[in-house]
Amino acid sequence: MLHIDGLTKSYGRHILWSDLTRTVPSAAMTALTGPSGSGKSTLLNCIGLLDRPDSGDIRFDGRPLSGVSSHRARIFRRDTLGYLFQNYALIPDTTIKENLQVALPRLSRRESRARLADALAAVGLAGRAQEPTHHLSGGEQQRLALARLIVRKPALILADEPTGALDEDNATMVIGTLRQLAEAGATVLIATHNATVRDACGEQIDLTCTGHPDGPPPGPVPPGLSPTGRGRSRRPASVRVG
Ligand code: ADP
Ligand code: MG
Repeated sequence: MLHIDGLTKSYGRHILWSDLTRTVPSAAMTALTGPSGSGKSTLLNCIGLLDRPDSGDIRFDGRPLSGVSSHRARIFRRDTLGYLFQNYALIPDTTIKENLQVALPRLSRRESRARLADALAAVGLAGRAQEPTHHLSGGEQQRLALARLIVRKPALILADEPTGALDEDNATMVIGTLRQLAEAGATVLIATHNATVRDACGEQIDLTCTGHPDGPPPGPVPPGLSPTGRGRSRRPASVRVG
């Protein structure tokens, strides 16, 4: 479980969020929503230790993430964290296999081979390990990035607009796979502006107006959205992402 406590971040006079306190449950997918520029990517980067909040604390499974040494940050990124980006962030000029090998934990040769093959099969890339990554379409590249998560099974997965550049079939596979990782116990936080992805998540954190110290302004709340972004629990029978 991820705890965000009293988090504040601003760039100059622009306050992204002020005193933001939220809990992101484990074994669930949580949508991180809000208009462009509301600080979704910045929040993911603060949780992933790529950026720092101005004040406040972040804890994962009881362990503090703010103010940790660079050594501890490296171990957290290696052992606990998985990132999925809109632009895939694969290693260029290499093969599918090489992109997965860097993510593999230390295992016997036989186990490594089996885990790699299982991950590729899970994302529909079975038997293609030797292909160069630049042969892959955008959807296939994101599926390879997913396979990289599957071989590592990180406890915390941060996904920044992971379906933003994908067609419906690939987006459905990405969300379906993230759901499986969540069902296996991972804490999954997905920044998205896609209503279908949002609705596929059981929980939501909405960054609309979080830059106001007093929270969202009063007024009508769109159906299905909670003004605090907490406690929303809705799950469609099937996931369709468009
Ligand atoms: P979102 O992902 O919700 O679209 P971002 O987290 O990317 O929002 O950005 C939030 C705001 O912070 C934007 O207005 C952006 O211009 C600003 N911002 C992000 N990174 C920096 C930076 N390094 N320096 C100054 N402003 C930044
Ligand atoms: Mg963003």
